[in-house]
Amino acid sequence: MSNPNRVAVITGASSGIGEALARELVGEGYHVALLARRLERIVALSHELGNGAIAIQADVTDRESVVAAAARVQHELGGADVVINNAGVMLTAPFGSEKRSEHRQMVETNLLGAMTVTEVFLDQLRAKKGDLVNISSVAGRVAPAGFAVYSATKWGINGWSEALRVELQPDIRVMVIEPGAVATELSDHITHDESKRAAQDYRDNVAMPATDIAQVIAFALSRPKRITLNEILVRPTVQAM
Ligand code: NDP
Repeated sequence: MSNPNRVAVITGASSGIGEALARELVGEGYHVALLARRLERIVALSHELGNGAIAIQADVTDRESVVAAAARVQHELGGADVVINNAGVMLTAPFGSEKRSEHRQMVETNLLGAMTVTEVFLDQLRAKKGDLVNISSVAGRVAPAGFAVYSATKWGINGWSEALRVELQPDIRVMVIEPGAVATELSDHITHDESKRAAQDYRDNVAMPATDIAQVIAFALSRPKRITLNEILVRPTVQAM
């Protein structure tokens, strides 16, 4: 499946796993559409990557911006062969800490955002008999205190992906990637001080580089169409839970 003409749409491409994945896939000859809200970052990345990389400002919680992005991908790149639902926020806090807007933002971004992107790009994926990759988390398997809503979004991604897999096979492959701790800016956006310190400390002592996950995703995509790596859990070796 390593095909130099394949087009990959990556949400959340402005940092972390999405940025690393863009580099990895371009290295394998993909054309990439980089989606995120921070336009200057994805524009700079697209210039660096070349090879037809395009930057499209899109907010996965805003369906109109996703529809506009899909139109550009169709028009400028000929449609998506691969869609990677990677955009996400982890605004962890005790459930009773009145972080209602953070809780809502996680559901709207991580779960509903992925659903919106998939629904909008589904015709392109059907036309190309393509691949859908949903970035879940180890937090879609375990649910520690303080992670109630984040874990709910990732358990939600897992259940939704499994039903999609059954519904869309054999034309579209559905893969779920469940990373353990990855060294990215994800925890820097937490607004609950104690949760932020704990998450940053965990990242600084346990996390693997984003390139490790990018390589796993690229490997999964490179498998022949007759098989699908449906669900991949990847922890740093030092991570216990
Ligand atoms: P980053 O914070 O580095 O990346 C998150 C990306 O999501 C950014 O590019 C951000 O771009 C984008 N994003 C956030 N909200 C929106 C939105 N409303 N619309 C469009 N894009 C949005 O973190 P990671 O790279 O770590 O996270 C990527 C994915 O990996 C997430 O789904 C996360 O839950 C998951 N994950 C991360 C782990 C970790 O330890 N880091 C572990 C397990 C899973 P912008 O702000 O420019 O819009």
